[in-house]
Amino acid sequence: IVQLYVPLNWFGSYYRAIQKNFVDMENMFDLLKEDQEVIDAPGAGPIVVKRGTVEFNNVSFGYLPEKLILKNVTFTVPSGKTIALVGPSGSGKSTIIRLLFRFYDVETGNILVDGQNIKTVTQDSLRSAIGVVPQDTVLFNNSIRYNIKYGRLTATDADIIEAARGADIHDKILTFVDAYDTQVGERGLRLSGGEKQRVAIARTLLKAPQIVLLDEATSALDTQTERNIQESLNRMCANRTTIIVAHRLSTIIHADEILVLQDGEIMERGKHEHLIGQDGIYASMWRQQLDKDTNLISSLENSATH
Ligand code: ATP
Repeated sequence: IVQLYVPLNWFGSYYRAIQKNFVDMENMFDLLKEDQEVIDAPGAGPIVVKRGTVEFNNVSFGYLPEKLILKNVTFTVPSGKTIALVGPSGSGKSTIIRLLFRFYDVETGNILVDGQNIKTVTQDSLRSAIGVVPQDTVLFNNSIRYNIKYGRLTATDADIIEAARGADIHDKILTFVDAYDTQVGERGLRLSGGEKQRVAIARTLLKAPQIVLLDEATSALDTQTERNIQESLNRMCANRTTIIVAHRLSTIIHADEILVLQDGEIMERGKHEHLIGQDGIYASMWRQQLDKDTNLISSLENSATH
């Protein structure tokens, strides 16, 4: 009986995970490709999240036993504060996010949310306490209304409109042929990258989680769009514990703490000004980005004058 129970239960939780979290995680984790290695502890109860404090204590982790990807990572995000993860590609930023979502269990150390070890609570309850805005949001072939409502299936039309307003996409939706009933997705109206991101923000506003994970888009949107989206993001993150995987440093100048990762280790940490003052990895990343932006601006100016 025991032998039979384990695989069935495993399959059950895998299936539920796909159903409930597929869209939340979208391209960020590509759940279907990940091995589902994690199962709920026997007798695990739901997590209770009131303040949304996140703690990583001496966390080490590797996908394969022979290679550690995160080494002794320790940080705390106090309730309502924002932490930003920066560092070169492959440094382990997304791995931190995946561990908090408990797609994998840590090798050593622990991860606490409001003081509860995430290993000891149900995955469903953990994931419903966390909102995710991925780099690239996948839409259902369904109405724009349903696509927003997915954040909380019990939401009323008034809730949906309020969320759309908060994400600054309501007015845009009213310009669509069938307004909120307009079909979107692969087989319907194709939305722009910025619009899809707003749908993800609206979903998260509806879900109203205490913790938000934000994987910043790498592909640059135009500056005005970006500035407008930033305002919606700020609204969404206000008073929520937020972890940002940042690709453009300009968006994290006001983060409460910036962690600079390299090869899975936190090499520098602190606020923007502090890190600039240290003249280390972060400062040189900052200079590089400024150079890039300056080049971009001058090439735009050149193309405008010629
Ligand atoms: P990027 O900025 O490019 O998204 P990142 O800092 O988010 O990079 P991670 O995605 O956390 O980096 O990856 C850290 C390391 O772990 C990389 O070397 C990557 O190749 C490795 N890695 C990621 N996922 C897996 C996996 N499922 N199996 C084995 N190794 C993996």
